[in-house]
Amino acid sequence: MKVPLLDLKAHHEPIKAEIMASIQKVIDRNGFIMGPEVAELEATIAKYSGAARAIGVTSGTDALLIALMALDIKAGDEVVTTPYSFFATAGVIARMGARPVFVDIDPVTYNIDPAKLEKALTAKTKALIPVHLYGQVADMDPIMKIASARGIPVIEDGAQAIGAEYRDGRRACSMGTIGCLSFFPSKNLGCWGDGGMVVTNDTALADKLVLLRNHGSKPKYYHKIIGGNFRLDSIQAAVLNVKIKYLDGWTAGRQKNAQSYADLFKASGLVDKGTVVLPEPVYKKAGARHYHIYNQFVIRVPNRDKLLEHLKAKEIGSEVYYPVSFHEQECFGYLGYKKGDFPEAEKAESSTVAIPIYPELTGEMQAYVVETIKEFYK
Ligand SMILES: *Cc1c(COP(=O)(O)O)cnc(C)c1O
Repeated sequence: MKVPLLDLKAHHEPIKAEIMASIQKVIDRNGFIMGPEVAELEATIAKYSGAARAIGVTSGTDALLIALMALDIKAGDEVVTTPYSFFATAGVIARMGARPVFVDIDPVTYNIDPAKLEKALTAKTKALIPVHLYGQVADMDPIMKIASARGIPVIEDGAQAIGAEYRDGRRACSMGTIGCLSFFPSKNLGCWGDGGMVVTNDTALADKLVLLRNHGSKPKYYHKIIGGNFRLDSIQAAVLNVKIKYLDGWTAGRQKNAQSYADLFKASGLVDKGTVVLPEPVYKKAGARHYHIYNQFVIRVPNRDKLLEHLKAKEIGSEVYYPVSFHEQECFGYLGYKKGDFPEAEKAESSTVAIPIYPELTGEMQAYVVETIKEFYK
């Protein structure tokens, strides 16, 4: 049996005609830039995220970049974030001329550890970027408490966590100053190319983000501030306006698969022996629906690299998110960090693996995945 890490063909097949019809309208109108599709998507995402405003942008990376631009982050500033995320989270900080400062992760959620946050703050700290990794929200209450006490804005990197809920049901990207979403095809809500969104409850910031998205131009050809071309294509918005109707169903599918994995791994004996550590949805409450949206299902295992080879030989898709933490990246050598500075991130990068969790995954496939892993540890 072949089990891919993600199956976009199976994902899109049932709704392909509907998406094609939505794209066709854009083409028939020849309105490719900032059409009504973008405005419709922005209204839907704002509501879905529980935020006042949403502004469509070119990608998740550009959402983070434009957020830093809106907050006037500049050379010499420090921005505190996790060492364990997709590169964009830290890359955008350096691109603004600011200095990325890292704080180690919590070993259970893999998100930034608020208990270690305070020590990393200085007079130069101008923003915090917690990441909601794998689809579970970072521990936002203590983060916001520390940030608010010092007047530091918080940018939520919600690229992997659209709609994910924190303790009392507050959604990812509605708690900080600005939230950032990605519609890269492998995210829970993916378009047919690149796309992203910034969301905020701050109306003045939202107006500034709108300006920045289009070269700071208002009225046309008069530039109050320097922005860029960060516009979301109408065609991508047309795809997403269809797909978002199905998002809750897909999330329920991912959660059901997560529960099946938990049952299968427990039955295999691997969990009780401590061989496999399952992801733990720490904010799950009775009746909660979006406590973890499982963009990835990441397990912690011994002898990880050999397991990767075994999975590959058995045609099971897997991926390491992420094999090299930021403080060990060549391009960040100038920051002066060294191996050992963030032990939890380093443990995670060498002991975790993502296995298939997409909504179309069958029970048979999941049983094969768990059986294959069990066979490896025999
Ligand atoms: C995907 C991702 C991004 C970047 O999004 P793109 O749309 O690919 O530019 C940023 N941060 C995290 C945590 C991501 O997973």
